[in-house]
Amino acid sequence: MGCEIILQIFSGGFLGEAVPFKAVEEKLSMVLPRLPVSKVIMGWAGGGSRETRSLYEKTAVFLEKSNIEFYLWFPVFSETGVLKSLDPLVDLHGRPLESQSGSGKEENFSFCCPGSRHNIEKILEIFEEEFSSMPFSGIFLDKIRYPSFAQGQRGVFSCFCPHCAAEYADPGQVRDALSGTFSQPLGINGYLGCGTYEFEDPLIMEFFSLKAGFISRSMQRICRYFREKRLKIGFDVFAPFLAPFVGQDLRALSELCDFMKPMMYCITRAPAGLPFETEALLCETGCSNPEKRQRFHEILGLDPRKLPFSLHSQQGEHAPEVNFAARELANLVNSSSSPIYAGMEINRKKNLAEVYPDYIEDAITAYSGAGVRGIVLSWNLLDAPQENLVRVGEVIEGMRT
Ligand SMILES: [Zn+2]
Repeated sequence: MGCEIILQIFSGGFLGEAVPFKAVEEKLSMVLPRLPVSKVIMGWAGGGSRETRSLYEKTAVFLEKSNIEFYLWFPVFSETGVLKSLDPLVDLHGRPLESQSGSGKEENFSFCCPGSRHNIEKILEIFEEEFSSMPFSGIFLDKIRYPSFAQGQRGVFSCFCPHCAAEYADPGQVRDALSGTFSQPLGINGYLGCGTYEFEDPLIMEFFSLKAGFISRSMQRICRYFREKRLKIGFDVFAPFLAPFVGQDLRALSELCDFMKPMMYCITRAPAGLPFETEALLCETGCSNPEKRQRFHEILGLDPRKLPFSLHSQQGEHAPEVNFAARELANLVNSSSSPIYAGMEINRKKNLAEVYPDYIEDAITAYSGAGVRGIVLSWNLLDAPQENLVRVGEVIEGMRT
C-alpha cells in the first residue's frame, strides 16, 4: 500500500517570534522532491505581526504549487490561556489548578476546563482574531484533552468545577474512589485494546467516560465552527492505551474529523511520549514498584522481561515498544471512522528524543503493516537531522518496489 507523509512544523508559540520563511522554504525544498507529502501542518505563532502573516502566506503559496494541503496547527485546551482569560480546571478538593508560568513563546501545558462554554467561545475568538483571514486548507487541533499524569495526579483527577461536578451522580463517591490505593494503576485488571480498560471499580470507569464525554461534546461544537469555515479537520491525539486518562474517546473523536494522528512517540521523554507517560502513570498512581510495573506491562500485552518503556534504554533498543505501538495502531485503524496517520518523532533533542535512523525504519515498516494511511513526521521538521529524513525517503521508496 502507499504511505502518505504529513510534515509538522513548529512556527513558534502564540506570542513567540515566528521562524523565518527562509528556514521553512529550505527544508521543504529539500524534503518535497524525496517524499510523498500530502499535507503540511504549521503553527501556532500568532498571526498578529507582519512577519508571521507573511510566513503563513508565503508557505501557502509555496505548497499550492505542489498541490499540498496546508493545515494550521492550533492547540485548543492548553496554550490558549496566554491570550485570553479562561476558566481553570478544578481539582477534586475544589482548588483551581494554577496555570503554569510561560511567556507564550514555547509550550507551557496550562490546561483550562474543556467543559466550559465560555472557554470554547474565547478559544474560537483566538482563531478568529489571529488566523481566520489566512489561506489554510485545514485546521489541525492539538491539546484536545485534559492534563496527563506527566503533569501530576491533580490534573488527571479533574475537573470538579461546579459545572463539571454537576455531571456526576455523586461527586463525593467519585472523589473517594480516586483517592483509594490500588494494586494496579487505578485498579485496572484488563486491557481490551483501543483505549478500553477493565477497572475493578465502576466509579473510576464512570469518571473517565464522563471526562471523555466533555471533550467529545466540546469538540462537536468546535468542529461545527470550523466546518462552517470550510476547513478540513485533523486531530492530534494520545496513543490509544493512554487516551482514556486524558479524556479522549478515540472512536467518538474519529467521527468528527477528516484524519487522526495518534502520537506513537516510542522514545520521547516528554509529554505524549510513551515511555514518559507510562512511567508517570505508574508513579502517580503509586504502582511503580517492580512487581506492579511488571504486571501492568503484562496487562498491556508487553513482555516485561524486555524492559519495555525503560527510561534508560540505549540507542537501538526499541523493538518491544514499536511492535506494541503497531498493535495499538492496527486496532485503532479497525475501529476508527476516519483515516489514521501514525505520529512518529523525526526531530532529535538531546535527552528528550534521541531519534536515529534505525528507529525510523523499524517504526515506518511496522506502522504501514498495521494499515495506517500514512505517517506524520513530528513534531518539528525544522529540528530533524538530515540522516533521519533521508532514511524516511529510503524506507518509503523500498516499500514501493
Ligand atoms: Zn470544569
